[in-house]
Amino acid sequence: MAISIRPLPDSFAGEVSGLDITRPIDRTDVAAIEAGMNAHAVLVFRDQHLTDEQQIAFTLNFGELESYKSPGHIRKREDHRLGPGIADFSNLDRQGNIMSADDRVWFFKLGDRLWHSDSSFRPAPAKYSLLSGRVIPSWGANTEFADMRAAYDALDERTKAEVADLICEHSLVYSREAIGFVDLTTEEIAAFAPVRHPLVRRHPVTGRPSLFLSAHAGAIVGWTVPEARVFLRDLTEHATQREFVYSHAWKPGDLVMWDNRATMHRARRFDHREVRDVRRTTLAGQPPVRA
Ligand code: MN
Repeated sequence: MAISIRPLPDSFAGEVSGLDITRPIDRTDVAAIEAGMNAHAVLVFRDQHLTDEQQIAFTLNFGELESYKSPGHIRKREDHRLGPGIADFSNLDRQGNIMSADDRVWFFKLGDRLWHSDSSFRPAPAKYSLLSGRVIPSWGANTEFADMRAAYDALDERTKAEVADLICEHSLVYSREAIGFVDLTTEEIAAFAPVRHPLVRRHPVTGRPSLFLSAHAGAIVGWTVPEARVFLRDLTEHATQREFVYSHAWKPGDLVMWDNRATMHRARRFDHREVRDVRRTTLAGQPPVRA
């Protein structure tokens, strides 16, 4: 059966069928998926029961894994449940038990409930993220995606002119502060020093401009902080109207792949007493180019 990509109903996202990604795929399929990503920015693959090794192998068809010496999260390597190359977005501790609701690692994960773009707090933010659903709670836990290309296109001309040359500062400190998680260590604050990115970025392949917003963005260069925060909040509200959003309801075996250069996303609530085991591979990107 040949690969096919069709738009999901009432959504910018696409669904891929006719492909088993637990096995190596050929160049034609890689090219078809890349074209699908450039068109849709979010692709859904169903019934792909991947091992971690298979997920990493599939991911490597599209670039190099993101890897950082400084921690994105605060857990030491030896405290990780999973091996290298794959990030644990579950609510499980190393022993496989549901983590305590007052665990600092859980506080970091709660920050993902805010709209963001992966690694926007890094000098070179992520290209694609690939999230594999292994164990899914009985209620909630959707992942939502906002199309930042459409959000940019829909701005009025005055606002387009206003955002054109703005530079934002992104830091994990801003997004954690936004949920009231403020007792970061001096070491963490130093590791999360703000980085600067253009507010409007141009996609390196399609050339399409998009709004580069994220919960990690907490300042605009040359603006006062309150002015910047309310403007970024306004823009985020605009960009996440339902007409720009795809909400993914997970089934075990789903793999969702998104382009962080053209979308934002957020995790939704679920019952913390239930297991959610989702695992992410992430491809390294380049510093964003201003549109
Ligand atoms: Mn994320």
